[in-house]
Amino acid sequence: MRDLWLTALNKIPISHGNTLKKAHVMALREILLIPNPKLYKVAQPVSAITNELKVLVKDMFETMYDAPGIGLAAPQIGVMERVIVVDCATRSKDDTRNEDGEYEEVEQEDYEGEDEGEDIPDLPEPDPEPIAMINPELIWFSDETSIYEEGCLSIPEFYEDVERPTSCRVRYMDMEGEIIERDLEGLLSTCVQHEVDHLNGKLFIDYISRLKRERITKKFQKAAKRAAG
Ligand SMILES: [Zn+2]
Repeated sequence: MRDLWLTALNKIPISHGNTLKKAHVMALREILLIPNPKLYKVAQPVSAITNELKVLVKDMFETMYDAPGIGLAAPQIGVMERVIVVDCATRSKDDTRNEDGEYEEVEQEDYEGEDEGEDIPDLPEPDPEPIAMINPELIWFSDETSIYEEGCLSIPEFYEDVERPTSCRVRYMDMEGEIIERDLEGLLSTCVQHEVDHLNGKLFIDYISRLKRERITKKFQKAAKRAAG
């Protein structure tokens, strides 16, 4: 089964995440692409929940939803702190799949009501489940593994199968400063493992064949050179 991973949020109404956006001024951060050196460095632990951290987390959620993606790590926006945000809620609902197990395209036109720009209350909209994890640590992995087709906002439009432990246990601090331990499975487990890797300077392409990794890295190196003039 092909898993569409980060493309999933393309398929939900644009109003997703509006509750966050209404609460404060939008602040999208630039997502760094490979081969930006920050993506290969180890991020530092966060020592306290400060206002600065709260702003960072809000900005990370907005940047992730806008991209759109289902996970983002602080180093991807150039902040070398151990902070990740994820929201896999929309991907765990089987009722949005068609008979091929793929997610249905949702056209924006389908959501236009009488008053343009208004939310249409009777249309299905997945509930967002934003989770921010401060200093996340993976403290247990299952022996069982599964394969998802992964993508990454720092390596746009490149997808490859990656095998990881199916389940894991994560320990992290939430935004209230509480230490949380949570068992994860399915897409959320894969997503959190992918994001924690970012905090250690590791990318999902580190799990694929060297040939493919070098090919995709060269492509992005060339694009970066072109962009720099
Ligand atoms: Zn990534």
